Amino acid sequence: MKFYIKLFLFLFAFSPIFALAAGKGLHKIVIDAGHGGSDAGAGGKFSHEKDLTLAISLRLGALIERNLKNVEVIYTRTTDIYPSLKERHRIANQANADLFISIHINSSRGTTERIFQGYKTIKKKKKRVQVPVYKVIHHHETTASGTEVQILGLHRAGQKATAMTSNTDNVEEEVGMLDVNDPQTAIIIAQYLQAFQGNSVLLGTYIQQEFSTQGRTDRGVKQMGLEVLAGSAMPGVLVECGFINNPSEEEYMNSEVGLDEIARAIFNGVRAYKAEIEKN
Ligand SMILES: [Zn+2]
Repeated sequence: MKFYIKLFLFLFAFSPIFALAAGKGLHKIVIDAGHGGSDAGAGGKFSHEKDLTLAISLRLGALIERNLKNVEVIYTRTTDIYPSLKERHRIANQANADLFISIHINSSRGTTERIFQGYKTIKKKKKRVQVPVYKVIHHHETTASGTEVQILGLHRAGQKATAMTSNTDNVEEEVGMLDVNDPQTAIIIAQYLQAFQGNSVLLGTYIQQEFSTQGRTDRGVKQMGLEVLAGSAMPGVLVECGFINNPSEEEYMNSEVGLDEIARAIFNGVRAYKAEIEKN
């Protein structure tokens, strides 16, 4: 037992992966505008998620390119097209990126209202009975508001490990060939995943802080089983920038001020994250 603990600590301290996760820095960021093309995403009264995610992504990319030295931005799309999730992962993995940021707009289920209209008489088993009549109105609108950051839950870590071993450009140069059946490799992969997880939480927390400072409702950093994040071999976050079926948030997200502020919040989060992981 003791031996294994020692072995683990030894591997942890001297593993090149540990050094890599802690000190690789942030040089390439993939920005993924959610949905696109035939997939409009969530809809509001007058706008579609796919257009807002693209507008925010392009603004975010421009901020990064203008303000962060030696950081390259790679987009999964810059126009109104729909790359499949597989294609988005391929772009990120081939670029050997350090971070994956997926931009989305939230939508919540509306409410159903039943308004009493009176009674009507129907025939039931040859008897006439009175039954109430309601008018049913579905409200698409919501009062839910605010932003949240979603990160990959640990229950999807297996898929992440697969993505890492099949897209090992990122990893192989540091540790040599990966063999998932080798216990040592398994430990290294586990450490790597932990670092991803930790980095994703760190970035998510910074982004949410920035949104809070702007006065947006803080819905927190949540672990989810996200297909969009599970296939890329790097830390990643999915940012839900507001509710499209909340009329005032839809208005805000369609305004220049709103788009700029949202991009700025995410950018400030990325900048703080970069400073933190490159501190040493
Ligand atoms: Zn979406």
